Amino acid sequence: MTGIQHPFRLRLAKSRRLVVKVGSGVLTGADQRLNRVRVASLVKGLSSLVESGIQTILVTSGAVATGAPVMGLAGRTKTIPQKQACAAIGQTLLMALYEECFSTRGHHSAQILLTQDDVRSRERYLNARNTFETLISAGVVPIVNENDSVAVSEIKFGDNDNLSAEVAALVGADLLLILSTTDGLYEKFEPGQQPIPLVEQITNSHFDYAKDHLSPTGISTGGMKSKLMSIKKANQYGIAAVLAGGQKDDIIQNVISGKNEGTLFLPCEDKLSAREYWILHTLSPKGTLSIDAGARRALTEHGRSLLPIGITGVEGNFRSGNSVRIAGPDGIEIARGLTYYSSQEVVTIKGCKTDEIESKLGYRYYDEVVHRDNLVLII
Ligand code: GLU
Repeated sequence: MTGIQHPFRLRLAKSRRLVVKVGSGVLTGADQRLNRVRVASLVKGLSSLVESGIQTILVTSGAVATGAPVMGLAGRTKTIPQKQACAAIGQTLLMALYEECFSTRGHHSAQILLTQDDVRSRERYLNARNTFETLISAGVVPIVNENDSVAVSEIKFGDNDNLSAEVAALVGADLLLILSTTDGLYEKFEPGQQPIPLVEQITNSHFDYAKDHLSPTGISTGGMKSKLMSIKKANQYGIAAVLAGGQKDDIIQNVISGKNEGTLFLPCEDKLSAREYWILHTLSPKGTLSIDAGARRALTEHGRSLLPIGITGVEGNFRSGNSVRIAGPDGIEIARGLTYYSSQEVVTIKGCKTDEIESKLGYRYYDEVVHRDNLVLII
Protein backbone atom coordinates (compact mmCIF):
# COMPACT_ATOMS: atom_id res chain seq x y z
CA MET A 1 0.00 0.00 0.00
CA THR A 2 1.33 3.47 -0.84
CA GLY A 3 0.26 7.00 0.14
CA ILE A 4 1.51 9.74 2.42
CA GLN A 5 2.65 8.53 5.80
CA HIS A 6 1.36 10.17 8.93
CA PRO A 7 4.34 11.07 11.19
CA PHE A 8 2.79 8.90 13.91
CA ARG A 9 3.48 5.85 11.72
CA LEU A 10 7.20 6.50 12.04
CA ARG A 11 6.89 6.64 15.82
CA LEU A 12 5.58 3.07 15.89
CA ALA A 13 9.12 1.74 15.62
CA LYS A 14 9.80 3.39 18.98
CA SER A 15 6.96 1.47 20.69
CA ARG A 16 8.10 0.26 24.07
CA ARG A 17 5.34 -2.21 24.84
CA LEU A 18 3.05 -3.78 22.27
CA VAL A 19 -0.03 -5.99 22.50
CA VAL A 20 -0.69 -8.01 19.34
CA LYS A 21 -4.12 -9.61 18.97
CA VAL A 22 -4.69 -12.36 16.45
CA GLY A 23 -8.13 -13.70 15.57
CA SER A 24 -9.27 -17.27 14.91
CA GLY A 25 -9.96 -16.42 11.25
CA VAL A 26 -6.28 -15.55 10.77
CA LEU A 27 -4.99 -18.68 12.51
CA THR A 28 -7.16 -21.20 10.70
CA GLY A 29 -7.24 -22.35 7.09
CA ALA A 30 -10.21 -22.84 4.75
CA ASP A 31 -10.89 -26.19 6.52
CA GLN A 32 -11.27 -24.20 9.79
CA ARG A 33 -8.33 -26.08 11.31
CA LEU A 34 -5.26 -24.50 12.86
CA ASN A 35 -2.87 -23.35 10.12
CA ARG A 36 0.61 -24.23 11.42
CA VAL A 37 2.38 -22.21 8.75
CA ARG A 38 0.45 -19.09 9.73
CA VAL A 39 1.27 -19.60 13.42
CA ALA A 40 4.96 -20.04 12.56
CA SER A 41 4.93 -16.85 10.50
CA LEU A 42 3.20 -14.94 13.31
CA VAL A 43 5.81 -16.16 15.79
CA LYS A 44 8.57 -15.05 13.40
CA GLY A 45 7.12 -11.52 13.49
CA LEU A 46 6.70 -11.56 17.26
CA SER A 47 10.24 -12.85 17.75
CA SER A 48 11.62 -10.02 15.63
CA LEU A 49 9.87 -7.56 17.94
CA VAL A 50 11.37 -9.18 21.03
CA GLU A 51 14.79 -9.16 19.39
CA SER A 52 14.51 -5.46 18.67
CA GLY A 53 13.78 -4.79 22.34
CA ILE A 54 10.01 -4.23 22.10
CA GLN A 55 8.17 -5.81 25.02
CA THR A 56 5.57 -8.01 23.37
CA ILE A 57 2.34 -9.61 24.58
CA LEU A 58 0.17 -11.79 22.36
CA VAL A 59 -3.60 -12.13 22.75
CA THR A 60 -4.63 -15.15 20.76
CA SER A 61 -7.92 -16.70 19.76
CA GLY A 62 -8.13 -20.11 18.16
CA ALA A 63 -8.63 -22.43 21.15
CA VAL A 64 -12.19 -23.37 20.16
CA ALA A 65 -11.24 -23.79 16.48
CA THR A 66 -8.24 -25.96 17.43
CA GLY A 67 -10.22 -28.19 19.78
CA ALA A 68 -13.25 -28.59 17.51
CA PRO A 69 -11.87 -31.31 15.20
CA VAL A 70 -10.90 -33.41 18.25
CA MET A 71 -14.53 -33.25 19.40
CA GLY A 72 -15.76 -34.00 15.86
CA LEU A 73 -17.27 -30.50 15.75
CA ALA A 74 -15.15 -28.73 13.14
CA GLY A 75 -17.24 -26.29 11.11
CA ARG A 76 -20.41 -27.16 13.07
CA THR A 77 -22.59 -24.98 15.28
CA LYS A 78 -21.70 -25.65 18.91
CA THR A 79 -23.53 -25.26 22.21
CA ILE A 80 -21.78 -23.23 24.90
CA PRO A 81 -20.63 -26.33 26.86
CA GLN A 82 -19.32 -27.80 23.59
CA LYS A 83 -17.41 -24.58 22.87
CA GLN A 84 -15.98 -24.67 26.40
CA ALA A 85 -14.89 -28.28 25.94
CA CYS A 86 -13.34 -27.44 22.55
CA ALA A 87 -11.49 -24.52 24.18
CA ALA A 88 -10.17 -26.77 26.97
CA ILE A 89 -8.80 -29.21 24.40
CA GLY A 90 -7.64 -26.62 21.89
CA GLN A 91 -5.90 -24.28 24.33
CA THR A 92 -3.19 -26.82 25.21
CA LEU A 93 -2.64 -27.74 21.55
CA LEU A 94 -2.47 -24.06 20.61
CA MET A 95 0.04 -23.28 23.37
CA ALA A 96 2.15 -26.32 22.49
CA LEU A 97 2.42 -25.05 18.92
CA TYR A 98 3.28 -21.50 20.00
CA GLU A 99 5.97 -22.76 22.39
CA GLU A 100 7.40 -25.07 19.70
CA CYS A 101 7.63 -22.14 17.26
CA PHE A 102 9.10 -19.74 19.84
CA SER A 103 11.65 -22.23 21.12
CA THR A 104 13.03 -22.88 17.61
CA ARG A 105 13.79 -19.15 17.56
CA GLY A 106 15.40 -19.20 21.01
CA HIS A 107 12.45 -17.64 22.87
CA HIS A 108 9.83 -18.81 25.34
CA SER A 109 6.16 -18.16 25.82
CA ALA A 110 3.84 -18.40 28.83
CA GLN A 111 0.09 -18.86 29.07
CA ILE A 112 -2.19 -16.41 30.89
CA LEU A 113 -5.92 -17.18 30.86
CA LEU A 114 -8.16 -14.37 32.09
CA THR A 115 -11.82 -13.73 32.84
CA GLN A 116 -13.40 -10.32 33.31
CA ASP A 117 -13.49 -11.00 37.06
CA ASP A 118 -9.70 -10.98 37.10
CA VAL A 119 -9.57 -7.34 36.03
CA ARG A 120 -12.57 -6.24 38.12
CA SER A 121 -11.05 -7.39 41.38
CA ARG A 122 -8.27 -5.02 42.44
CA GLU A 123 -6.24 -7.82 44.02
CA ARG A 124 -6.41 -10.14 41.01
CA TYR A 125 -5.77 -7.21 38.66
CA LEU A 126 -2.58 -6.38 40.53
CA ASN A 127 -1.55 -10.05 40.66
CA ALA A 128 -2.06 -10.39 36.92
CA ARG A 129 -0.07 -7.22 36.32
CA ASN A 130 2.82 -8.51 38.45
CA THR A 131 2.88 -11.76 36.51
CA PHE A 132 3.00 -9.88 33.19
CA GLU A 133 5.84 -7.68 34.46
CA THR A 134 7.84 -10.65 35.72
CA LEU A 135 7.45 -12.58 32.46
CA ILE A 136 8.27 -9.56 30.32
CA SER A 137 11.36 -8.71 32.32
CA ALA A 138 12.52 -12.32 31.87
CA GLY A 139 12.14 -11.90 28.08
CA VAL A 140 9.27 -14.41 27.91
CA VAL A 141 6.27 -13.66 25.66
CA PRO A 142 2.98 -13.80 27.60
CA ILE A 143 0.23 -15.38 25.50
CA VAL A 144 -3.25 -14.46 26.68
CA ASN A 145 -6.65 -15.93 25.93
CA GLU A 146 -9.98 -15.76 27.67
CA ASN A 147 -10.42 -18.59 30.17
CA ASP A 148 -13.24 -19.94 28.01
CA SER A 149 -13.75 -23.23 29.82
CA VAL A 150 -14.86 -21.45 33.02
CA ALA A 151 -16.22 -18.13 31.70
CA VAL A 152 -19.97 -17.62 31.62
CA SER A 153 -21.60 -14.46 30.30
CA GLU A 154 -21.34 -12.47 33.57
CA ILE A 155 -17.58 -12.93 33.77
CA LYS A 156 -16.77 -12.99 30.05
CA PHE A 157 -14.86 -10.31 28.20
CA GLY A 158 -17.21 -11.14 25.32
CA ASP A 159 -14.61 -11.48 22.62
CA ASN A 160 -10.88 -11.31 22.25
CA ASP A 161 -10.95 -7.82 20.67
CA ASN A 162 -12.27 -6.53 23.96
CA LEU A 163 -9.86 -8.75 25.90
CA SER A 164 -6.94 -7.30 23.93
CA ALA A 165 -7.95 -3.70 24.78
CA GLU A 166 -8.26 -4.64 28.46
CA VAL A 167 -4.87 -6.35 28.39
CA ALA A 168 -3.30 -3.34 26.63
CA ALA A 169 -4.66 -1.12 29.42
CA LEU A 170 -3.61 -3.58 32.14
CA VAL A 171 0.01 -3.75 30.99
CA GLY A 172 0.24 -0.06 29.98
CA ALA A 173 1.02 -0.79 26.32
CA ASP A 174 1.67 2.06 23.92
CA LEU A 175 0.35 0.19 20.88
CA LEU A 176 -2.37 -2.37 20.23
CA LEU A 177 -2.05 -4.22 16.92
CA ILE A 178 -5.17 -6.15 15.91
CA LEU A 179 -4.46 -8.69 13.20
CA SER A 180 -7.64 -9.66 11.45
CA THR A 181 -8.93 -11.25 8.25
CA THR A 182 -9.94 -7.70 7.27
CA ASP A 183 -6.92 -5.54 6.55
CA GLY A 184 -8.27 -2.29 8.02
CA LEU A 185 -11.38 -0.15 8.31
CA TYR A 186 -13.08 0.65 5.02
CA GLU A 187 -15.57 3.38 4.26
CA LYS A 188 -17.30 0.83 2.05
CA PHE A 189 -16.43 -2.83 2.31
CA GLU A 190 -16.44 -3.37 -1.46
CA PRO A 191 -13.85 -4.84 -3.84
CA GLY A 192 -11.23 -2.38 -5.09
CA GLN A 193 -11.44 -0.10 -2.03
CA GLN A 194 -8.43 0.79 0.13
CA PRO A 195 -8.58 0.85 3.93
CA ILE A 196 -8.78 4.26 5.61
CA PRO A 197 -5.10 4.88 6.53
CA LEU A 198 -5.71 7.08 9.58
CA VAL A 199 -8.51 7.70 12.07
CA GLU A 200 -7.78 10.59 14.41
CA GLN A 201 -10.81 9.95 16.58
CA ILE A 202 -13.47 7.24 16.28
CA THR A 203 -16.89 8.78 15.67
CA ASN A 204 -20.36 7.46 14.89
CA SER A 205 -19.65 7.58 11.17
CA HIS A 206 -16.89 4.99 11.65
CA PHE A 207 -19.41 2.76 13.39
CA ASP A 208 -21.70 3.32 10.39
CA TYR A 209 -18.96 2.07 8.04
CA ALA A 210 -18.62 -1.02 10.25
CA LYS A 211 -22.33 -1.84 10.09
CA ASP A 212 -22.33 -3.74 6.81
CA HIS A 213 -19.16 -5.59 7.47
CA LEU A 214 -19.59 -9.26 8.34
CA SER A 215 -16.85 -11.74 9.10
CA PRO A 216 -15.72 -13.37 5.84
CA THR A 217 -14.86 -16.71 7.47
CA GLY A 218 -17.74 -17.39 9.83
CA ILE A 219 -15.20 -18.64 12.40
CA SER A 220 -14.31 -15.18 13.74
CA THR A 221 -16.16 -13.91 16.79
CA GLY A 222 -15.82 -10.16 17.12
CA GLY A 223 -16.74 -8.40 13.86
CA MET A 224 -15.84 -4.84 12.89
CA LYS A 225 -18.12 -3.12 15.43
CA SER A 226 -16.49 -4.96 18.31
CA LYS A 227 -13.06 -4.10 16.90
CA LEU A 228 -13.96 -0.40 16.79
CA MET A 229 -15.38 -0.47 20.31
CA SER A 230 -12.24 -2.15 21.60
CA ILE A 231 -9.95 0.20 19.71
CA LYS A 232 -11.91 3.18 21.05
CA LYS A 233 -11.35 1.87 24.57
CA ALA A 234 -7.63 1.56 23.96
CA ASN A 235 -7.47 5.06 22.39
CA GLN A 236 -9.33 6.53 25.37
CA TYR A 237 -6.64 5.04 27.55
CA GLY A 238 -3.95 6.80 25.50
CA ILE A 239 -2.97 3.72 23.48
CA ALA A 240 -2.58 3.91 19.68
CA ALA A 241 -4.00 1.03 17.65
CA VAL A 242 -3.49 -0.46 14.21
CA LEU A 243 -5.98 -2.78 12.53
CA ALA A 244 -4.23 -4.74 9.81
CA GLY A 245 -4.46 -7.91 7.71
CA GLY A 246 -3.09 -10.85 9.69
CA GLN A 247 -2.77 -13.10 6.66
CA LYS A 248 -0.17 -10.89 4.98
CA ASP A 249 3.48 -11.90 5.12
CA ASP A 250 5.68 -9.83 7.44
CA ILE A 251 2.71 -7.75 8.56
CA ILE A 252 4.06 -7.18 12.09
CA GLN A 253 7.45 -6.02 10.84
CA ASN A 254 5.80 -3.77 8.21
CA VAL A 255 3.49 -2.08 10.72
CA ILE A 256 6.30 -1.52 13.19
CA SER A 257 8.62 -0.11 10.55
CA GLY A 258 6.00 2.56 9.80
CA LYS A 259 4.61 1.27 6.49
CA ASN A 260 1.08 2.41 5.64
CA GLU A 261 -0.51 -0.95 6.48
CA GLY A 262 -4.16 -1.13 7.58
CA THR A 263 -5.74 1.63 9.62
CA LEU A 264 -3.93 3.57 12.34
CA PHE A 265 -6.12 4.93 15.15
CA LEU A 266 -4.51 7.72 17.13
CA PRO A 267 -4.68 7.77 20.93
CA CYS A 268 -7.05 10.33 22.50
CA GLU A 269 -5.26 13.49 23.59
CA ASP A 270 -7.10 13.82 26.90
CA LYS A 271 -6.93 10.22 27.95
CA LEU A 272 -9.01 8.74 30.75
CA SER A 273 -7.36 8.23 34.11
CA ALA A 274 -7.08 4.66 35.38
CA ARG A 275 -10.03 5.31 37.68
CA GLU A 276 -12.21 6.78 34.91
CA TYR A 277 -11.34 3.82 32.68
CA TRP A 278 -12.29 1.44 35.47
CA ILE A 279 -15.67 3.15 35.96
CA LEU A 280 -16.40 3.33 32.24
CA HIS A 281 -15.07 0.03 30.97
CA THR A 282 -14.32 -2.42 33.72
CA LEU A 283 -17.35 -2.31 36.00
CA SER A 284 -20.67 -3.69 34.73
CA PRO A 285 -23.51 -1.21 35.28
CA LYS A 286 -26.23 -2.53 37.56
CA GLY A 287 -28.95 -0.07 36.55
CA THR A 288 -29.92 3.21 34.91
CA LEU A 289 -30.79 6.64 36.25
CA SER A 290 -32.88 8.74 33.84
CA ILE A 291 -32.36 12.48 34.23
CA ASP A 292 -34.09 15.62 32.97
CA ALA A 293 -32.70 18.20 30.55
CA GLY A 294 -31.53 20.54 33.32
CA ALA A 295 -29.50 17.81 35.01
CA ARG A 296 -28.06 16.76 31.65
CA ARG A 297 -26.84 20.33 31.09
CA ALA A 298 -25.43 20.49 34.63
CA LEU A 299 -23.42 17.31 34.01
CA THR A 300 -22.30 17.84 30.44
CA GLU A 301 -21.82 21.62 30.29
CA HIS A 302 -21.02 22.65 33.85
CA GLY A 303 -19.15 19.62 35.19
CA ARG A 304 -21.53 19.20 38.15
CA SER A 305 -22.54 16.17 40.25
CA LEU A 306 -25.89 14.43 39.85
CA LEU A 307 -28.37 15.51 42.54
CA PRO A 308 -31.69 13.78 43.33
CA ILE A 309 -33.71 16.69 41.93
CA GLY A 310 -32.66 15.97 38.34
CA ILE A 311 -33.51 12.25 38.45
CA THR A 312 -36.76 11.24 36.76
CA GLY A 313 -36.53 7.44 36.69
CA VAL A 314 -34.67 4.46 38.14
CA GLU A 315 -34.17 1.06 36.55
CA GLY A 316 -32.40 -2.00 37.93
CA ASN A 317 -31.47 -3.18 41.34
CA PHE A 318 -28.27 -1.64 42.65
CA ARG A 319 -26.50 -0.93 45.90
CA SER A 320 -24.45 2.01 47.12
CA GLY A 321 -21.08 1.93 45.33
CA ASN A 322 -22.37 0.11 42.23
CA SER A 323 -21.87 1.44 38.73
CA VAL A 324 -24.95 2.91 37.02
CA ARG A 325 -25.74 4.31 33.58
CA ILE A 326 -26.98 7.89 33.43
CA ALA A 327 -29.35 8.54 30.54
CA GLY A 328 -30.79 11.83 29.25
CA PRO A 329 -34.48 12.53 28.53
CA ASP A 330 -34.07 10.86 25.09
CA GLY A 331 -32.89 7.62 26.74
CA ILE A 332 -29.34 7.98 25.38
CA GLU A 333 -26.62 7.21 27.91
CA ILE A 334 -24.50 10.27 28.60
CA ALA A 335 -22.43 9.19 31.58
CA ARG A 336 -21.49 6.29 33.81
CA GLY A 337 -20.89 6.68 37.52
CA LEU A 338 -20.77 5.15 40.98
CA THR A 339 -23.91 5.80 43.00
CA TYR A 340 -23.91 6.76 46.68
CA TYR A 341 -27.50 5.56 47.09
CA SER A 342 -29.15 2.19 46.33
CA SER A 343 -31.93 1.82 43.74
CA GLN A 344 -34.56 1.68 46.50
CA GLU A 345 -33.22 4.85 48.06
CA VAL A 346 -33.10 6.68 44.72
CA VAL A 347 -36.71 5.69 44.01
CA THR A 348 -37.63 7.45 47.28
CA ILE A 349 -35.54 10.61 46.80
CA LYS A 350 -35.74 11.17 43.02
CA GLY A 351 -37.06 14.62 42.13
CA CYS A 352 -36.41 15.89 45.69
CA LYS A 353 -34.35 18.87 46.75
CA THR A 354 -31.15 17.97 48.59
CA ASP A 355 -32.46 19.25 51.92
CA GLU A 356 -35.45 16.89 51.65
CA ILE A 357 -33.29 13.72 51.50
CA GLU A 358 -33.23 13.31 55.28
CA SER A 359 -36.97 13.70 55.76
CA LYS A 360 -37.64 11.17 52.98
CA LEU A 361 -35.09 8.53 54.01
CA GLY A 362 -34.66 9.25 57.71
CA TYR A 363 -30.91 9.80 57.09
CA ARG A 364 -28.65 11.52 54.60
CA TYR A 365 -25.27 10.10 53.54
CA TYR A 366 -24.46 12.60 50.82
CA ASP A 367 -26.09 15.48 48.95
CA GLU A 368 -25.29 13.91 45.58
CA VAL A 369 -26.52 10.64 44.12
CA VAL A 370 -23.45 10.45 41.87
CA HIS A 371 -20.57 12.73 42.83
CA ARG A 372 -18.63 14.37 40.00
CA ASP A 373 -15.45 12.56 41.05
CA ASN A 374 -17.18 9.23 40.48
CA LEU A 375 -18.69 10.14 37.11
CA VAL A 376 -17.35 9.79 33.58
CA LEU A 377 -19.04 11.44 30.60
CA ILE A 378 -19.49 9.30 27.53
CA ILE A 379 -18.25 11.13 24.47
N1 GLU B 1 -11.36 -17.35 23.15
C1 GLU B 1 -11.88 -17.88 21.91
C2 GLU B 1 -10.93 -18.96 21.38
O1 GLU B 1 -9.79 -19.01 21.75
C3 GLU B 1 -12.01 -16.85 20.83
C4 GLU B 1 -12.87 -15.67 21.15
C5 GLU B 1 -12.69 -14.56 20.12
O2 GLU B 1 -12.01 -14.75 19.12
O3 GLU B 1 -13.23 -13.48 20.31
O4 GLU B 1 -11.33 -19.74 20.55
